[in-house]
Amino acid sequence: MSDCLFCKIAAGEIPSACVYSDDLVYAFNDIDPQAPKHFLVIPREHIASCAEIGPGNSAVVAHIFEVIAKLAKELGFDDGFRVVSNCGESAGQSVKHLHFHVLSGRDMTWPPG
Ligand code: 5GP
Ligand code: ZN
Repeated sequence: MSDCLFCKIAAGEIPSACVYSDDLVYAFNDIDPQAPKHFLVIPREHIASCAEIGPGNSAVVAHIFEVIAKLAKELGFDDGFRVVSNCGESAGQSVKHLHFHVLSGRDMTWPPG
């Protein structure tokens, strides 16, 4: 998608702090971190949100979660971490390209606001 911020970040057209990269996914530090560790994992393919996941594209979502588990081990998130995907306006989704927030390094509360 030519006008999508996260497509441009995945393509390297907009700079970001890379955490992990492969043919299918890209992970980078959030520009406005909400925890000591806060990065985003996105598919390189443009998918608008969780609401657009289906049989044709769900394999990349499984891969994203494998990457998250691997990074959590490598980065030493032994005390726990949170994975969040905001879907739609009322849930607070501000970038319309599927992304999973991964947060760690502080105690977290539940329910979220
Ligand atoms: P959402 O609000 O859609 O759930 O999450 C979007 C996230 O993208 C926010 O946490 C925001 O800080 C982050 N973000 C927005 N623009 C940029 C950017 O240009 N670079 C980086 N690294 N993160 C961004
Ligand atoms: Zn996109």
